[in-house]
Amino acid sequence: MPDFVEVADRVWLARYEWADANVTAIGSERGLVVVDTHGSTAAGRVVLDDLRSLAAGEVHAVVNTHWHWDHSFGNAAFREHDPDVPIHAHERAAAWLAERAEETKARWLEHPEDPHATEVADTEIVLPDRVFSTTQAVDLGDRALELLHLGRGHTDGDLVVRIPDADVVLGGDLVEESAHPWIGMDSWPLEWPSTLEAVLGQVGPDTVVVPGHGVAVDRAFVENQRRELGLIAEGVRRLVDTGVPIDEAAAQGEWPWEANDPRIANAVTRGYEHLGAVSPLG
Ligand SMILES: [Zn+2]
Repeated sequence: MPDFVEVADRVWLARYEWADANVTAIGSERGLVVVDTHGSTAAGRVVLDDLRSLAAGEVHAVVNTHWHWDHSFGNAAFREHDPDVPIHAHERAAAWLAERAEETKARWLEHPEDPHATEVADTEIVLPDRVFSTTQAVDLGDRALELLHLGRGHTDGDLVVRIPDADVVLGGDLVEESAHPWIGMDSWPLEWPSTLEAVLGQVGPDTVVVPGHGVAVDRAFVENQRRELGLIAEGVRRLVDTGVPIDEAAAQGEWPWEANDPRIANAVTRGYEHLGAVSPLG
């Protein structure tokens, strides 16, 4: 199991092999805040075990950066350990989790050969109970966290965590290091660049930025990701403006990534939908 590695003063990052998912722990005099809980109750229990070896106190609060399974399906393990532990998330993340988590579990069961299928299917969905729309402060006594919703991007309910005293920003999946950021059918590819611009407003020259997947990065990395997502948004707009049919768009467009990357197809589908160039029902 991975160790939690200190990336800034009392900010520890563990990178789990399954889904290459990051979990961050923030220390304080009130205990630990755990940001993202990995992909199942079983995986959440492993995170709790790994946190024990940090010997940095009990879990004081949990944060889900967005609703996706690899960031929120471990929630039940934390409630099992402490029935009163608060779970923070954006209100849209909580709504999606309530509406769509069972569908996600059912999709896993379509692949029974996957070694994680059963544990995901067995996972009890625990919804965040401390939701907000724009910002929320988390007072930890000797330090404070800011949870910020800076716009739509990877989903419509992404939050970033700012730890001002350590100059750290946790970007959730608005920023990914180990792969191109995932543009899914619940993403907002045309708005993502301006949301990242707002994230960059929180990032200085020495800020440590922790992505949802992969190693910690710096401002220049986020600027480049914003540039690439900006090229994709511009590309989709241009295709719509010139009347290119949706089924030819991925092949005809110019992209910073491979044209056959499923992220490009999803960006086209979502972009055409958001520009009103195709109805959501096709
Ligand atoms: Zn993710």
